[in-house]
Amino acid sequence: MAFPTETVYGLGANVEDRVAVSRVFEVKGRPPTHPLIVHIGGAQHLGDWVQDVPATARVLAERFWPGPLTLVLRRGRRVPMEATGGLETVAVRVPDHPVALALLSVFGGGVAAPSANRFGSVSPTAANHVRAELGDAVDVVLDGGACEVGVESTIVDATGDTPSILRPGGVTREDLETALGRPLAVHSASSVRVPGQHPSHYAPQARVVLVEPEKVAAEAELARQLGHQVGVLVPSFLTGTAVKAHAVVAVPRSMAAYARGLYGFLRELDQRGCDLIVASLPVEEGLGLAIANRLRRAAGPRPS
Ligand code: AMP
Ligand code: MG
Repeated sequence: MAFPTETVYGLGANVEDRVAVSRVFEVKGRPPTHPLIVHIGGAQHLGDWVQDVPATARVLAERFWPGPLTLVLRRGRRVPMEATGGLETVAVRVPDHPVALALLSVFGGGVAAPSANRFGSVSPTAANHVRAELGDAVDVVLDGGACEVGVESTIVDATGDTPSILRPGGVTREDLETALGRPLAVHSASSVRVPGQHPSHYAPQARVVLVEPEKVAAEAELARQLGHQVGVLVPSFLTGTAVKAHAVVAVPRSMAAYARGLYGFLRELDQRGCDLIVASLPVEEGLGLAIANRLRRAAGPRPS
């Protein structure tokens, strides 16, 4: 079953049901070594799913749950290895969406849910994206409208004394640092297996090329002359400049609006038949860090 969260739509399974969990991997085409996030109905249930809750994890859970923050902690016995890709840690979060919270409250258990898309492709931020991605492979899609945040949760490794960010997302690094009163490292490559860190991920069908913001228009023109059907994500300061391309999306000035729209923009450019998308990275602060991370990953080397 697919359901809405404030980040993206999830494909959910009872985490304690090994058959349901394996079906999620199958439907997504996701390698079984890639761990899932366990969604729970409230911070008070955290102790049911992890071995211990260090003080930093408690502070973060109290401050940011429900919300787009995932905590990686030591796996509790109720969580089967199948859901954690064989890891001794488990990723847990409380989503901030009325439909997701109602589902979790009625169900009462933990719901393992990756994004409801095929492995490696753009995450769904609306119910119709889920249908377009997964078709009949998913029996029920709960429609909760468009996702408010639009990019995945921030993943924080809270197993040790020094928490670190494994994946930037909907909760900003700055807000985490304020809550903890100390700087946080961002690990783009870590010993922990995080699908968000492999070459191409979050990728549309069109190839994505990243250039300096002031070079977007020239790069798009060059690609057009080479015969590409070019889609462009036009940086906000260039709006008003005539960018010649097959399809043009003006990027919102507000990073929150950009994050909310990002995956929809990539989907739209695919649908309009673009084979190449020219974009630039936003300033990597606030939500700009997560947006830049997803664009880099979308532009990463594709499996051949
Ligand atoms: P997705 O399923 O694509 O929406 O992403 C779920 C994210 O949670 C992936 O980046 C996972 O690697 C990450 N994740 C889940 N469990 C763990 C864990 N035990 N350690 C580190 N990352 C995890
Ligand atoms: Mg995903």
